[in-house]
Amino acid sequence: MQKNDMVTVTIEDMGTSGEGIGKVDGYALFIKDAIIGDVVEAKIMKAKKNYGYARLMNILTPSEYRVKNPQCSMARKCGGCQIQEMEYGRQLQFKMDKVRGNLMRIGEVPEELLDCVMEPIVGMDEPFHYRNKAQFPVGTDKEGNIVTGFYAGRTHSIIPNTDCSLGVPVNEKILKCILAFMEEYGIRAYDEEKNSGLVRHVLIRYGFTTKEIMVCLVINGNSLPHGEILAERLAQIPGMTSITLSINKDKTNVIMGNQIKPLWGQTYITDYIGNVKYQISPLSFYQVNPVQTEKLYGLALEYADLHGNETVWDLYCGIGTISLFLAQKAKKVYGVEIVPQAIDDAKNNAKINGITNAKFYVGKAEEVLPEYYAAYEREHGGKTAHADVIVVDPPRKGCEESLLQTIVDMQPERIVYVSCDSATLARDVKYLRGCGYELERVRAVDQFPQTVHVECVCLLRKN
Ligand code: SAH
Repeated sequence: MQKNDMVTVTIEDMGTSGEGIGKVDGYALFIKDAIIGDVVEAKIMKAKKNYGYARLMNILTPSEYRVKNPQCSMARKCGGCQIQEMEYGRQLQFKMDKVRGNLMRIGEVPEELLDCVMEPIVGMDEPFHYRNKAQFPVGTDKEGNIVTGFYAGRTHSIIPNTDCSLGVPVNEKILKCILAFMEEYGIRAYDEEKNSGLVRHVLIRYGFTTKEIMVCLVINGNSLPHGEILAERLAQIPGMTSITLSINKDKTNVIMGNQIKPLWGQTYITDYIGNVKYQISPLSFYQVNPVQTEKLYGLALEYADLHGNETVWDLYCGIGTISLFLAQKAKKVYGVEIVPQAIDDAKNNAKINGITNAKFYVGKAEEVLPEYYAAYEREHGGKTAHADVIVVDPPRKGCEESLLQTIVDMQPERIVYVSCDSATLARDVKYLRGCGYELERVRAVDQFPQTVHVECVCLLRKN
């Protein structure tokens, strides 16, 4: 097999990034945008000894799972969606297989056990327009027009598109208003290469329950000329609640600057997950799919099985979303989070909800919990700290082993593990099973339809 060879391939499997996998004379090929069941013509782009990468050139026989008319015409070019051209039901199957495969291979969980403990994935009825947050890069095209849209997969070239199928419909109106304003007043888009120009990104957030809208323009400067005119125009859009500027003058890939300046209205919007109210500022972390988040946290709460007398830890608590859910049913909840502003938000969110039994610590979970454990032992004459339930919701890299060890030392009855990466989840489940915790329930929740990402919640119980 050589570069530029054309081959015909039947796609028999899919990789974790959503790429189709097929074999030609025993040689495995990875083909982006090809779907399981497709027969495709592909061109070899990179040939290694035992496998290669090929580009999809022609679909000879489409898979029965291929969507006839994808919602978004940009689906293949844009880096946001990876599997939009695959039927939603098959997407869900792909995600369940991914979680199951990782738990089996990496987690070494026996197949018979998985057959018993894995529950069906929780999908969406409407798997589009689910995102409450969008960050649009602003740039200039070859003809000198100001454009906004999305980065093409793995690049920084902007594909103009103001109508993303994952975002809320009002995004388009907001973006068109901003682009027209910039053209009218000669305000330049940021140029990454030259670190010049003004407007870098537009952040839009939408409260699904409250219908409140936030717009934040990220600028390479201290102010936006004629900003009051833009604000006046944007304020006409029903639901507009917060218009701000974020100052970011650094030559960096980081989107948001640290400083937020108000332009119109409040500096935050309010939204609900279930019956808990949250104030969200431009820099706050907040789950992007509120419909599925409520289902995910509902499951975490169900798995935690609280009756009112429990001491619970919520590690990696962010703005306290899960903590506040749990606090309504527990005696005491302790949240731990590394980002200080998130803890400020968490404390504020507890306050506006009248929740008084949640306490929050800033720091690394793998430092705060072991330190708490050691201090408790010192102060209680050798008696060890105990928790009834420990919930963890770590970033993709999962938990450090030292943290898992302290969790085990605290002997909780139940551990609820919420994960956005089933590979690291599987690694940690292996460790916990080795320390006397058995996997009792596993359920994937599709927080990100049309993409390859999947969230998952597990219950482990002390033997
Ligand atoms: N449960 C929260 C957030 C989960 S995302 C929610 O649903 O809103 C993971 C969180 O872990 C992020 O807020 C991140 O800032 C935090 N984090 C990352 N590394 C950490 C560490 N070592 N210790 C504590 N928190 C950490």
